[in-house]
Formats: sequence, C-alpha cells, structure tokens
Amino acid sequence: MNEVLQLPRIAIGALGGTVSMKVKTPGEGVTPSLSSDALLASLPQLADLALITAQTLHLLPSASLTFVQLIDVLLWAKSQAEQGMQGVVLTQGTDTLEEVAYFLDLLWPYSTPLIITGAMRSPSQAGADGPANLLAAVQVAMAEESQGRGVLVVLNDQIHAAEHVRKVDSMAMAAFSSAYFGPDGLLVEGRVRYLNAPKPRVSLPVPERLDQRVALLEASLGADTSLLEDVAGLGYEGLVIAGFGAGHVSQEWARCVQQTSQRMPVIVASRTGAGATALHAYGFSGGEIDLQRKGALMAGFLCPRKCRVLLWVLIGCGREGELSRWLSQR
Ligand code: ASP
Repeated sequence: MNEVLQLPRIAIGALGGTVSMKVKTPGEGVTPSLSSDALLASLPQLADLALITAQTLHLLPSASLTFVQLIDVLLWAKSQAEQGMQGVVLTQGTDTLEEVAYFLDLLWPYSTPLIITGAMRSPSQAGADGPANLLAAVQVAMAEESQGRGVLVVLNDQIHAAEHVRKVDSMAMAAFSSAYFGPDGLLVEGRVRYLNAPKPRVSLPVPERLDQRVALLEASLGADTSLLEDVAGLGYEGLVIAGFGAGHVSQEWARCVQQTSQRMPVIVASRTGAGATALHAYGFSGGEIDLQRKGALMAGFLCPRKCRVLLWVLIGCGREGELSRWLSQR
C-alpha cells in the first residue's frame, strides 16, 4: 500500500497571533500576516508525519477574536472531526489562548483531539518557537493517548488541560502554566507522554443565543461601586467578580453583590492567579460566607476569565440553572 495513504490525517486551522506575525511596514511592529500555507512552509517535516489539510480561518491578534467567530471555528473543527481527521490543530495568539481553549473545550463533543498552539516569538525573531510548537501540536493531535481529553493546549513541549492552563508571563517562552494541576503531559523527544489519566468529560450544546453579555470586574483597593451598580442597567445578564484572595470584596461591593444577584447570576473568583476560592473560612462582610448568603456563587479553582466564558455559554444554551453544579465541580 502507498505509504502516504497510511499517514494520519490532521486538520490545521490558523486564526492569527504572533505565530503568524511579520513586519509589513518597517518600524511599525509585527501584525498577523502568514496564512496556514505559509505556516506549513516553515515546517516541511510535517509532510512526513501526517497528511495535513490547512485553512486560514482568521488573521487576527487574539485580543480581537469574538465568541461569534469562535462558534464558526468550532463548527469548522467539528466538520473536520466528522470527516475523519485524526486530530484538529488551531494556531492562534497566546493572549486569549486560555479563554479560547476553555470555550471550545466546553463545546467539544468528540474524542478527537482538538489542540491549540501559538508562539511567544514571531517568525522574524531569533529562536522563534512557532514551528516547534506547531510540530508538537501535530504530534499530540496524532497520538492515540490524546483521544478523549477534549481541548489541549500545547506550547513549550508541555500539554495543558484547557480548564487549568493560564498565560502567566507576558513575554517568557515558558508563558503557560497550570498551577497546582501541572501539565497533563509532556513531549519527550517528540513522544507524547501523559502524566494523568483522562477525566470523564461533559460537553454543552452549541449556544443558540449569541448576544448575551457577561461583565467581568476586578476588585481593587478602595474601588468605588459605580461600575458595579450599573451592570444590570447596562444590559449585562451575568457578572463575574475577580475578588481579593480567596474570593472577597469590600463591604460596599458586597451590598451591590446582593442587589445584582437578585437580577442575574454573580460568580466570585480569585484575582490571585492560582488556588481556589474559600467556602466557609471568613465571616466578615464581603467574605465568602457573606457573599454566598447574598446570592453569589464561588468559582472554586476556575479563574475569573473562564468563569465569564462558562457563564456566557450557559446563558447562551438557556442552562444558567446548571451554573452552581458546573462550579462545584471546579
Ligand atoms: N502576543 C500575542 C501572541 O502571542 C498576540 C496575540 O495574542 O495575538 O500571539
């Protein structure tokens, strides 16, 4: 049999980001420029590993991706899986990669691996990491052991679960970390080695509504309540607060939480960047016991940004009643 026919089939969708950025106008900095074909041209060895189908879905800095665009990306990825691709890889900017990964993970119903990667250095910089990350992402997508693990983030030879990974450094090559949980796996000399067994997964249907808005506000020392008071009036349907420490706010904010939680779901997460919110440790006004009595839900380990993604998806599916169950598992 022809060897080419035996190669695994992998689909790559390019969304933009540093991995695809080049200087178009000297002195003006890099912008998304490289199509999926140009990305593939930087990595000729992929052709020996897999039969690649590549498509440019967007050419955007990841800060400008929207939920609506991501639903289309999801539908594209689903169609690739349905056509029998062994794995699907997305390349995108690292700035919002953790949110995109979690968003897609909530909605990914297949055991086919969906891998997201990017780069911290653009192709024009010395030591650009894009080609190595793309190669690693394809290797992870091809691995039998990656089946049933949902959406995985592959950068710097580490494999992270979408739920836990965060960008924790603005510029470093080792910019992604999954505090406490650690990476789910590693690439060792190109071999995929998982450190944890896959966990049971539940996915949500594609949201029917796309116009819902969920606010995310961060608690900060001495902050007034004006923005908080306006959340319902401005038409938001959910609120996430990145609270102090284990999930706390000031007494003034706590009063607003009580009013707001009568009108919409309110989640309090931790702004610290690692660790879980408390449930029954602190008894002061604005502490987690008080906030729960005032109607807020505590986020557990889920970071504020992913709480916002979860709430947006649940509202879009008309399933916000399931919020506390989703959070209690986090
Ligand atoms: N610095 C970003 C990146 O790593 C830019 C972006 O997120 O698009 O790709």
